[in-house]
Amino acid sequence: MPPDAIPPGAATADAVTMAGVPAWAVSAIVAAGGRMHACGWVPATAGNISVRLDDGRIAITRSGVHKAFLDAEGVMLVDAAGTSQTAGARPSAETLLHCQIYRLFAAAGAVVHGHSVAATVLSMARPGPIVLAGYEMLKVFEGCRTHEVPLEIPVFDNDQDIARLCGVAEPRLAAMLGGTASRPLCYVIRGHGCYAWGPDMDTALARLEGLEFLLACELAKGTLR
Ligand SMILES: [Zn+2]
Repeated sequence: MPPDAIPPGAATADAVTMAGVPAWAVSAIVAAGGRMHACGWVPATAGNISVRLDDGRIAITRSGVHKAFLDAEGVMLVDAAGTSQTAGARPSAETLLHCQIYRLFAAAGAVVHGHSVAATVLSMARPGPIVLAGYEMLKVFEGCRTHEVPLEIPVFDNDQDIARLCGVAEPRLAAMLGGTASRPLCYVIRGHGCYAWGPDMDTALARLEGLEFLLACELAKGTLR
């Protein structure tokens, strides 16, 4: 890890921040925030980003922090149920969606969530799931070997009651577990944004980038009609 990747408050890769978050976790989250901001997916204080630690706790962005200006103070710890493990820090309500993904997907090590224009507009314009077909980029998703097999991206109606939203999402997420069929390992919340995950931050971000590219393509196709 290059020294300049370690944010203030985390002097070495072995260090922990004042909130008890390992430096590597802060670095991964800060870097992801910068990439997502550069893509325009986290306007205002939108979005949240997390990694799972070896002990099962989750390092996640605090509520209300702009992802372009993240530092060690912007990352907190929660337990697997989403309860704050950092004194005085309030997790985002959407932390429960991260916890749900980690609970269901044992191999998940990072979760990213942004609010892009494409995800917001497309999900509001179409009922039901978003079906992606014919794109080479489909191969970014788990088990997808060819552009010839369409992939259905789940879309859940937005809900300020995150526990209820988790309940709606649970059966569809559980259906992504196991097997060899293609699996998106991501979803869209209508009028809101995308969630994507992977075994590490690089994979989660690649999946989100692939999904956002495809949603942008779908949006662009709509302007040709
Ligand atoms: Zn959100």
